Amino acid sequence: SDHQLIYPPSPDQMDWSLMYPAYVVEDDKPADSEDTAMAAPGAETEAQSSDELVSSTEPKRLSKEVEVADIGCGFGGLLIALAPVMPDTLILGLEIRVSVTQYVVDRIKALRAQNELAPESNPNSYNNIACLRANTMKFLPNFFRKFQLSRIFICFPDPHFKARKHKQRIVSPTLNSEYAYALRPGGIVYTITDVPDLHHWMVQHFDAHRSFERVSDEDQNADPCVAIMRTETEEGKKVERHSGQKYVACFRRLEDPPFE
Ligand code: SAM
Repeated sequence: SDHQLIYPPSPDQMDWSLMYPAYVVEDDKPADSEDTAMAAPGAETEAQSSDELVSSTEPKRLSKEVEVADIGCGFGGLLIALAPVMPDTLILGLEIRVSVTQYVVDRIKALRAQNELAPESNPNSYNNIACLRANTMKFLPNFFRKFQLSRIFICFPDPHFKARKHKQRIVSPTLNSEYAYALRPGGIVYTITDVPDLHHWMVQHFDAHRSFERVSDEDQNADPCVAIMRTETEEGKKVERHSGQKYVACFRRLEDPPFE
C-alpha cells in the first residue's frame, strides 16, 4: 500500500544516483572511496528499497535528467528495447507492483553486467534505463519537475472495465494535467491498448485537454517509438500471439497559452 511507497517531497530532493550510477557527475562521487572506484557500473542498482532514493542532504547530481517515462512499465520490455535506440537519454519505468519492479531492476542489472563482460557483443550498456516503484496516480509531480520529460509512454494500461472502476484508469482529466505538467511543449504521450473502449476513453480525455493535440497518423507512423511500443512491450507481444488488434494514439504537448 501507499504508506510503503518511497517518494521525494520534491524533484530536487530525488537522488537518482543509485539508479543511473554511470551518469553521476564526477565531483559528486566520494573522492577516495575504493569501493566506488572498483564498483562495476550498475553494481548498486538493487539498493532501490530504501530511503536512499530520497536524499537527506544534497542529492548527488547526474549529468543528465530523466527524460522518458514508461508509466506502468510491467516487466520492462519497452525500457530494454528503447535503451539502444536512445543511448544518450535517461529512461525510467514506473511500476506499482513490488515484485515486478524488483524483476525489472534485476533484469537491468544483469544486462549491465553482461555488457561489462562483453561490451563488443552488446548493442548498449543499459546504463540509461532504470525502474522505480511508484504509484503514478499519486506522486508523479514529486519525481519530475515542470517540462522535464520529452516522452511519456502509457502502454496497455489496466482497463478497469466496470464504470464504477473508471476512476482507477491512469488517463483522466486530473492525471492528464499532471502529464502536461511534466511534459515539455512538443513532447509526446504515447498510448496503446487492445481494448477499444479504453482506446476511446484515452482519445476522448486527451482530445478534451487543452494542453494536448492528437498526432496525425502520418507523424505517428513515422515515429520509430510507435513501432517499438507495438512489438516490444510484453502486453504487445501477448496481443500479437493472439492475433489481437492494437489501438495506438499519440498526443503532442502544446505550448501554454499566454496569461490574459
Ligand atoms: N506496460 C506494460 C506492457 O505493455 O507490457 C505492462 C502493462 S500491464 C497490463 C499494466 C501495468 O501497470 C501493471 O504492471 C501494473 O502493475 C501497472 N500499474 C497499474 N497501476 C499503476 C500505478 N498507479 N502506478 C504504477 N504502475 C501501475
